[in-house]
Amino acid sequence: MTRQKLIAGNWKMHGDRAMARAVARAVAAGAAGVSAELLVCPPFPYLGLVGEIAPVALGAQDCHAAAHGAHTGDVAAPMLRDLGCLYVILGHSERRADHGETDAAVRAKAVGAIAAGLRPIVCVGETLAQRDAGEAEAVVRAQLAASLPEGFVAAEGVVAYEPVWAIGTGRTPTEGDIAALHAAMRAALVGRFGTAAAATRLLYGGSVKPGNAAAILRLAEVDGALVGGASLVADDLLAIARAA
Ligand code: PEP
Repeated sequence: MTRQKLIAGNWKMHGDRAMARAVARAVAAGAAGVSAELLVCPPFPYLGLVGEIAPVALGAQDCHAAAHGAHTGDVAAPMLRDLGCLYVILGHSERRADHGETDAAVRAKAVGAIAAGLRPIVCVGETLAQRDAGEAEAVVRAQLAASLPEGFVAAEGVVAYEPVWAIGTGRTPTEGDIAALHAAMRAALVGRFGTAAAATRLLYGGSVKPGNAAAILRLAEVDGALVGGASLVADDLLAIARAA
C-alpha cells in the first residue's frame, strides 16, 4: 500500500497578517517538486489570506461539532470548507488540556467535520507519566477507539500520534518506540475498520525538525508529520517535506 506522505504545519496561535503572508508566499515558492502533500493550518483569522496565497492544502486547528447555531466564538466545519479548508486538526493535546476536550467531544467534532466534507486529523498520544508507566499503547488504543467515528477511514481521516511530552520540548521517542506505536495504531485501525484502513495515513508529531525528519519519516507506518514550531519557518517546513 503506497500512501502519499502528508506534512502538516500547525501554526497554533502564532503569527500576524504579515507573518502569515510571508510564510505562505515562501511555502508557495518552495512547494514545487515536493512529492509529499503539504498542508498549512494557520489560526482561523488567517485562513482566507493563506488560502489565497499558498497553492497547498489548507486546514484549520479545530471546529465545532454542530454545522451552525448559537455557539458564540466557535467555528463550524461548513464555514471552514467554504473557506477552502480540506483538513481540520481535532483533539490536539493542547485543546484537550486547555479546553477539557474529551474523546467523546473529539468524536463529535470529527462527525461534524466529515459531514461538511473535511478530513479530520485526530490527535492522540500519551503523557510522560503514562509512557513511564508502560501505558503508551493502551492509552493510544483507547483514544483511537473513543475518538474516531464510524466512517473515519472512508472519509480519508488522518491520525496523528503526538506524545504529549514531545510537543514543543525538543524531545522525541526513540525510532523503535515510534515504529512500535505506529504498528499498534495500524493494527487497531485494521481491526476495527478492516483492510480499507491500510490506506489511512498515520502521522508522527512532536519536535519534528529538519534534522530528525528523515529518520522519522522513513519508519514503517509513519506516513508524514504534524509539525508545530518548525512550521512557522517556511524553509524548515519545506526541508521536512523534502525529507519525506
Ligand atoms: C504540534 O503542535 O502538533 C507539534 C508537534 O508541535 P512541535 O512540532 O512544536 O513539537
